[in-house]
Amino acid sequence: MDKLLQHSSYICINCGSKVENLFRKYSPTVLKLTNCEKCHRVADKYVEYDVIIIIIDLILLQQRAYRHILFNSNYKNLWKLSVIILLIDTYIDWSSYNKYYGFKKIQYDGDYDNFDFYKIGIKNSIRTLVFVITVYLHTILYCKTLKRKVVSFKEVWKILSVSSFGTFFFLPVLIWDIGVHQEIHKFIILVYIILSQLTAYMVIVDGAKIWSIYTILMSYTFKTIIFNYYYDHATSVIMLSDSISLGY
Ligand SMILES: [Zn+2]
Repeated sequence: MDKLLQHSSYICINCGSKVENLFRKYSPTVLKLTNCEKCHRVADKYVEYDVIIIIIDLILLQQRAYRHILFNSNYKNLWKLSVIILLIDTYIDWSSYNKYYGFKKIQYDGDYDNFDFYKIGIKNSIRTLVFVITVYLHTILYCKTLKRKVVSFKEVWKILSVSSFGTFFFLPVLIWDIGVHQEIHKFIILVYIILSQLTAYMVIVDGAKIWSIYTILMSYTFKTIIFNYYYDHATSVIMLSDSISLGY
C-alpha cells in the first residue's frame, strides 16, 4: 500500500475525477480511505482489497478495476505479461498452422522448419505493435480534438495488455478441447477479449462508447490486414521452399 504514496496524482475510480490522496495514514496501523469530492464515494476501495478481488472484477469487466490498475497502482509486470500473452498467442497460431498443413502435431520434433514458431512469434509481435500503435494514434487524435491531456503510449500499452488477460483462457481450450467445437470456443474467447479491451479503453477516453468501438474495431482491422499480408507471403515462401526441396 505504501507504493501508492509514490504517485503524484490519483483518480476516483467511480467518476474519474482527480483526488489528492487515496487514504490518510494516522498511525502505522490506522488509515482512512479518502472520499471523492465530486461523487462523495470512497475514491478507490481496491486499496484495501486483496489482488484476487481486483482480478475477479477485471474478469467481470468492471471499469473501476481498470481505473485502479491504470491510474492508482504501480503495476510493474507489463513486460512479463506482454511476453506471456505473446507466447500464448504464438503457440495458438503455431498449432493452427500445423493443423492447416496436415502435420497434426503440437510437439516440436524438427521434421520440418524448426523456425516456424519463431517466425510466427515475430509476426505476432509486429501485429501486436501495429494494434497498440493504431489505438495510440486514435487516442492522440481524440485527446487533441477535445483538448484533453494526451495519454502516453505506455498507458495505452498497459491498458491493452492488462485487458488481454482473456488470452489465458485459450490454454485449457487448446489442451482439452479437441474437435469441431474448438474453433467456436476460440471465437467466444476472442469476442470476450475484444469486450475487455473495449471496457478498458473506455476508461482512457472517459466512457466515449462510439469512439471506443470505432477505435478498437479499426485497430483490429489494421492488425488483420497485416496478419493476412504476412501469412499469405510466408505461406507462399514456405510452399515454394517445400516444392524445391521435394524436387518439383
Ligand atoms: Zn468520484
